[in-house]
Amino acid sequence: MADSSAFPAPLAPVRSADPLVSVVVPCFNEQEVIRVTHARLAPALEATGARFEIIYVNDGSRDATAGLLDFIAARDSRVRVVHLSRNFGHQIAVSAGLEHAAGDAIAIIDADLQDPPELIGDMLARWREGFDVVYGQRLSRGGESAFKLATARWFYRGLNALSDVDIPLDVGDFRLVDRAVADAILAMPERDRFLRGMFAWAGFRQTALPYHRDARAAGETKYPLRKMLRLAFDGMLSFSMQPLRLVLTLGFVIVALAGLGILYALGNRLFTENWVSGWTLLFIATMFMGGVQLIVMGMIGEYVGRIYMASKERPLYLVGRRTGFDRDSAASPATAPAAASQPRSQPRSRQVA
Ligand code: UDP
Ligand code: MG
Repeated sequence: MADSSAFPAPLAPVRSADPLVSVVVPCFNEQEVIRVTHARLAPALEATGARFEIIYVNDGSRDATAGLLDFIAARDSRVRVVHLSRNFGHQIAVSAGLEHAAGDAIAIIDADLQDPPELIGDMLARWREGFDVVYGQRLSRGGESAFKLATARWFYRGLNALSDVDIPLDVGDFRLVDRAVADAILAMPERDRFLRGMFAWAGFRQTALPYHRDARAAGETKYPLRKMLRLAFDGMLSFSMQPLRLVLTLGFVIVALAGLGILYALGNRLFTENWVSGWTLLFIATMFMGGVQLIVMGMIGEYVGRIYMASKERPLYLVGRRTGFDRDSAASPATAPAAASQPRSQPRSRQVA
């Protein structure tokens, strides 16, 4: 009996009337842009009217970024800085930021102003409406090479074809998520983190916020081709076992071809005179099989290596030091007195194993 009235629409979740918003900003060698970023991010957050904290994660920068971030934190009580002990990579830096965030809603934004900070206010509005994940969806991307645009497009099409989760197209890590979603992500101990995929996998009430992505405000990309490929592999291998199945299919196809070849060779041997010929075919087949076997072993090795690394259960990252966490004024100056929430000398004690 499909009486839809028996299944009332899910109630919109009750949102705190005075939520704390955490904004996580991963930074790797961003000395050219970081002051500009803070000068635009802080007013954009003030404009939302919500209490907020900004968590800059210094991902082992080798330039002046660390000092600049401490400088910013010393002058702005809403700023906390997590200095990782070395460069752990963008996805882990964001995970570290999530773990240090105390907010009811948590936004993730790059340090280079490619994603407009003013949109966080819009994301917050959608969160208040009851959405748990509001992700930015790029309508256009300024300042990216045609190569990067094309490869990104193919990659997401391919990944969605291969994996069980549907990762929305043209979506990066720029998003705002509810506390519950962040906790769900932090409870996933996996090492090869492909956050946009993990968020998609998590479910909850998700919605897209379309926007135009700008070019980097200053400095240059910290994602060389090597890191992009690494991210693509993480996405592919963490969200799909299809590569293994493809390899198996390939094995069957080759065995079938080999069977035909064997019949052909035997036929030649038994019924014709010219059976010594065919050296070329022999050579090609041997080389081909050798290559296929190496690919297959490499593919399996890639999964096995990940199992090996995961089995060590090392922490995802190490913190060198923290700045700004001993303050409890997670508020814009206007609402500062009301913001005497729980003082934090330490980040949330949860451990990402
Ligand atoms: N990033 C990081 N660790 C890294 C590489 C990058 O924290 O190892 C940060 C970087 O500072 C920036 C964000 O990740 O805030 C995205 O990097 P970038 O803008 O260079 O990548 P692109 O936008 O060119 O893909
Ligand atoms: Mg960028």
